[in-house]
Amino acid sequence: MLEATWFSEAQPASGTAFSLKIKRKLHEEQSEFQFLEIYETESFGNLMVIDGCTMVSTRDNFLYHEMMSHPVLFTHPNPKRVWIIGGGDCGTLREVLKHPGIEQAVQIDIDERVTRLAEIYFPELCASNDDPRATLKFIDGIKWVKEAAPGSVDIIIVDSTDPVGPAEGLFCADFYQDCFRALSDEGIVVQQSESPLLHMNILKAMRDEMRAGGFQHMQTVFFPQCIYPSGWWSATMATKSPLTAFREQDAANKAFETLFYNADIHKASLAMPEFFRKAFA
Ligand code: SAM
Repeated sequence: MLEATWFSEAQPASGTAFSLKIKRKLHEEQSEFQFLEIYETESFGNLMVIDGCTMVSTRDNFLYHEMMSHPVLFTHPNPKRVWIIGGGDCGTLREVLKHPGIEQAVQIDIDERVTRLAEIYFPELCASNDDPRATLKFIDGIKWVKEAAPGSVDIIIVDSTDPVGPAEGLFCADFYQDCFRALSDEGIVVQQSESPLLHMNILKAMRDEMRAGGFQHMQTVFFPQCIYPSGWWSATMATKSPLTAFREQDAANKAFETLFYNADIHKASLAMPEFFRKAFA
């Protein structure tokens, strides 16, 4: 039996759970949108939990944040304007701003409290929040994209919670249609697309909705993320015209530090498992 000193995220639908031994709870609050908790863990540093789901840990967030940003940024031929929908812990924003060609990065999270807590408990993720190219907005990402001018952004990164609560509408055709309109011709939307092992139903539904929103070309990248259900995660890119090969030379010659991402990891993350290939053949 687990003692009371463990945080556990149970996934009843798959009969699985992920646990971390905790030293203490550092904070909890009900924000206007969700229930937020911060724990100090024994071996993973700090842990942010939203509505009972693990979001970010000090130890392994680099996997997710790097894979949500660098593959899409090295796939677009010349990205300058990026929006991050969600992403309130600011880790994806920090990775995006490592690319010197980025002129403007706007993070749009519905819940300002997530960012305020990240500033206290994950200051390293917020290191680039004062970059003059960065803007932080605290409004609904669905509304932001709906009201955007056509062709006004190169990349939209949807770094959201699971498709429930305020994030539900971020997985729908209406939202993708708005993304399609807001993106420039070579634009790309990329969205965290859950576990390929446990959530193929979500992955399939998401692709259907993306297609209904106008995107005919999709590519999924796979990466490890041990604090998320099954420890195996994905992000799906969608474009208006067929996806071209990523800028492998630029990725190989990148002038910034990463812990996980490099050109070989990028190439490997595109390899499709057989069951996935069959599902989307
Ligand atoms: N890495 C995480 C994952 O895959 O579970 C996501 C982390 S990030 C903290 C998720 C953020 O999405 C939260 O801060 C939440 O407030 C935000 N969010 C949810 N729905 C949103 C919406 N409609 N518009 C903008 N942000 C939203």
